[in-house]
Amino acid sequence: MKNYSEYINEERLKNNFIKMAEVDTGSCEDTKKGLEPSTEKQVEFAKNILKPILENLKLEDIKFDKTGILTASLKGNIESSFTLGLIAHMDTSEQAPTGPVKVKIHDYKQGDIELLNGTLIEESDLEPYKNHTIISSDGTTLLGADDKAGIAEIIEAITVLTEHPEIKRPNIKIAITPDEEIGEGVSYFDIDKFGADLAYTVDGSEAKNIESETFNAFNPEIIINGIPVHCGHAYKKMVNAIDVASYIIGKLPQAEKPETTRNREGYYHVDNINGDVNKVVMKMLVRDFDFSGAKNRIEFLKNLIKNAENEFKGCKIEFRENEKYHNMKEKLMEKPEVIEYAKEAIRRSGLEPKEPVVRGGTDGAMLTLRGLLTPNLGTGGVNFHSKKEFISLQIMKKCCENVINLVNVWAENS
Ligand SMILES: [Zn+2]
Repeated sequence: MKNYSEYINEERLKNNFIKMAEVDTGSCEDTKKGLEPSTEKQVEFAKNILKPILENLKLEDIKFDKTGILTASLKGNIESSFTLGLIAHMDTSEQAPTGPVKVKIHDYKQGDIELLNGTLIEESDLEPYKNHTIISSDGTTLLGADDKAGIAEIIEAITVLTEHPEIKRPNIKIAITPDEEIGEGVSYFDIDKFGADLAYTVDGSEAKNIESETFNAFNPEIIINGIPVHCGHAYKKMVNAIDVASYIIGKLPQAEKPETTRNREGYYHVDNINGDVNKVVMKMLVRDFDFSGAKNRIEFLKNLIKNAENEFKGCKIEFRENEKYHNMKEKLMEKPEVIEYAKEAIRRSGLEPKEPVVRGGTDGAMLTLRGLLTPNLGTGGVNFHSKKEFISLQIMKKCCENVINLVNVWAENS
């Protein structure tokens, strides 16, 4: 088995990553309207930074569409029409300041890494990375390894493939998407036009991970319409929507919240509540790895609402289920080699593959549900969505090697 790691240019991988990380590409839930990406800075990034990199690589069919998705192709060098997709996202999370990002490089030996304004990357997080080159922000913003590390790793893998035509490869399509962090990454993704038979997102954490199992997700909305009456005349007339909301929240199982569950346990979460005596809108998250489990939770909420309407005579409660995404595992099992080949690729990089459950969703889960099987590979990033975010250059290189091996395994089998 050929070891491709010597073909990977660590310096080039690092420089490409830093060039991308330095640009603020934060997405924004509040400004997302219709087709266009939520922020203009993502569009600028795609046009001015990403597209020229792909053009330099002489990829074909480079397209940047109005929804903000950048795609390109690399023709295969084997007798097969099979096409493998590789997907990463360009936006960064608004959960931490998104820029301007000042990248810091640390020749890490031991101890904590102290950054500006008291931001501390703890030794416990750094333990596996002794003698690695650690890349972080200056501590005032996130780094954006989520998911610019994924983009940089895909680009380096593609570069190696174009430099070494002796490495067998099927047709490859890549897509860099906007707005993943606000759950809109693939809302406008045209699977038919993309033309891949299956795909992988490169947007996970550890290099040894292949993520194939996500939550089943509903984001229910509960709209409570009370009966407002002047407080002076409220006796036996007023129904305060806020009281009704508080009744509902009080009946949620305390042991089934995000902060009281882990591993494969599902939960109810009140994410946002807004309103007054007249009307309250509650936004919730309901999560379960088991689909019937998720449906049971929805039934529980419906019953709870009935009880609330009985308890508070005259109030009207609307309920919207808002199904978001499914656990992709079941669908992926229709073609088990999608996972098996990824594990083989990880093994060829000298790692023992792991299949952790994702307590969240991925763009791949939504694509899988729509017919494009898309599990998730690791990027090496740690402490996503925070000022403590960092990545090891050596692990980025491993993730890049995983991608090259994966391309090669599919070439051998198609
Ligand atoms: Zn991500």
